[in-house]
Amino acid sequence: MSKRPDWDEYFMKLAMLASERATCPRMHCGCVLVKAKNVIATGYNGSIPGDEHCDDAGCLLVDDHCVRTVHAEMNALIQAARRGHAVEGASAYITNMPCTTCSKALITAGVKRVVVFSDYHKTMATEFFAKAGVVIDRIPMPGKAIDYDLKNYSSAR
Ligand SMILES: [Zn+2]
Ligand SMILES: [Zn+2]
Repeated sequence: MSKRPDWDEYFMKLAMLASERATCPRMHCGCVLVKAKNVIATGYNGSIPGDEHCDDAGCLLVDDHCVRTVHAEMNALIQAARRGHAVEGASAYITNMPCTTCSKALITAGVKRVVVFSDYHKTMATEFFAKAGVVIDRIPMPGKAIDYDLKNYSSAR
């Protein structure tokens, strides 16, 4: 029988699932914004709506960074803004430590806790989060399998 995931594992698994939609081969990232155990918004790094994808057109490099995509954290914040969901006091579950720009956006949006399992190159996120009083929790990467047991736990036959 599979182990029931705790809340942190559950929301991180959702962030990992969101990352599957990423379109830049240099990085796949997922972010889930959560408040009172409810998902407010999700995001992955992808192009501006209607624009071509890195996967199809190649990356758009400036100073060895791909600048084509909107980052996962930004996309989650933007999705919340478009739908009118307050982010104040939310937690952000992200597959990796945010870049400097995204960390500033998360802080300014009112995110109070960030949960990650992997790091990111050359980011000032930890310094900015510490200064802003945002809690950083590093958890082990949850299992990649989704335990949907059709045979035992579904009425579908
Ligand atoms: Zn790219
Ligand atoms: Zn970023």
